[in-house]
Amino acid sequence: MAFESLTDRLSETLKKVRGQDRLTEENMDEMLREIRLALLEADVNFTVVKDFIKNTKEKALGQDVLGSLKPGQVVVKIVHDELVELLGTDVSTVDFSKKPTIVMMVGLQGSGKTTTTGKIAKYIKEKNHKKPLLVAADIYRPAAVEQLKTIGEQVDVPVYSEGVDVSAQQIVKNALAKAEADGNDVILIDTAGRLQIDQKLMEELKELKGIANPDEILLVVDSLAGQEIANVASSFNEQLGITGAVLTKLDGDSRGGGAISIRYLTHVPIKYIGTGEKLDQIELFYPDRMAERILGMGDVVSLVEKVQDVYDEKESMKAFNKMKSGTFDLNDMLDQMHQLKKLGPLSGLLKMVPGMPKLPKFSDEDSNARLKETESLIYSMTMQERQHPEIINMRRRERIAKGAGKTVADVNRLLKQFEQAKKMMKQFSNIDPMTGMPTQKP
Ligand code: GDP
Repeated sequence: MAFESLTDRLSETLKKVRGQDRLTEENMDEMLREIRLALLEADVNFTVVKDFIKNTKEKALGQDVLGSLKPGQVVVKIVHDELVELLGTDVSTVDFSKKPTIVMMVGLQGSGKTTTTGKIAKYIKEKNHKKPLLVAADIYRPAAVEQLKTIGEQVDVPVYSEGVDVSAQQIVKNALAKAEADGNDVILIDTAGRLQIDQKLMEELKELKGIANPDEILLVVDSLAGQEIANVASSFNEQLGITGAVLTKLDGDSRGGGAISIRYLTHVPIKYIGTGEKLDQIELFYPDRMAERILGMGDVVSLVEKVQDVYDEKESMKAFNKMKSGTFDLNDMLDQMHQLKKLGPLSGLLKMVPGMPKLPKFSDEDSNARLKETESLIYSMTMQERQHPEIINMRRRERIAKGAGKTVADVNRLLKQFEQAKKMMKQFSNIDPMTGMPTQKP
């Protein structure tokens, strides 16, 4: 995941501050020096770092942090707010209300443009109930047209293409007519990219802009490109006037600095982020959540959303009600573990949980092995034992262990884990699982 080492360094630094009773000018300077180094090392643009430190210092001094009794929290809050400001403060989304909404996707080759075009189509089809049309206007990159067609099939969205022998201008013109005839309410045009910015590319894009008269021009940028991101964005912006950026490959191990700098340097809002190769791995961009992720405070809201997306609503309500009434049993625990597995690799998920970056890494193999072990143990219990684990005495433990090819210690561990899960659920039982908000106490 991007930002990993930045997160480690920042949370170390902030932890030190939190532990201090009083913040003196001296140790504040030291802290700012460390934050500065952490940002530079993460490849954040020098100007951005300079302004960031200046603003943080001014705010800290202005808020009388020096000498105050709880300086730690105040400083963390200031750094957090500054990061949010850098990343864009408000959530900026694409307005799909106009019919049709025309979106031109631009970017360098390999940035993830074609994939992102498909991801957005899937996203708006499912979440906004739109009827998009994809337009294959990248006629230069070998296989781009075929790739878009394949993606279109995967997300069940039509693709308008005329191969690679017709000009992009003509394809776009014909696609607009086709969309009108078919009643498509969103048109996503996948345009050509080059390995580097060149004038010929820009000229073609400008012509396409003239023909399509797009409502949005989204620039797709690869977070792995580091500081180059801001240069690419500036030059696309100067020539085309882009309305938003999509940062791809945030799941990769980029240091993240380019992603952090782009908004501040170009004033172009980030609208989506790509977090994997799969077509559902796209998210709206929330500056505050990203700031929290960077600061290692976890990203609880994204986590809740992800869980809501994948979790079977009926199933989770059932489990939730059982928790509330205290009838949650081992069968339910196994169901929950299966649901969790659907959420995908546990390692990605755990990164969103507050405090997790500091824990030793879980491998996905480990968690799969654990699920298998739990399964075999629970399957070798009788129904009565699963529903009333309290009856599982020593004799039963020995029988269950034998049946599962495990040891009594394994059974003990499972039962302990069950007790802990139950206890934890009690604490959460006044949270509505659908909204993540506290409900009235039952
Ligand atoms: P284009 O040349 O800009 O159209 O780029 P493609 O859409 O073909 O993407 C280039 C590569 O990046 C492909 O292998 C994609 O699967 C991959 N890719 C795109 N977005 C993401 C992302 O968010 N995360 C990861 N890990 N890979 C991505």
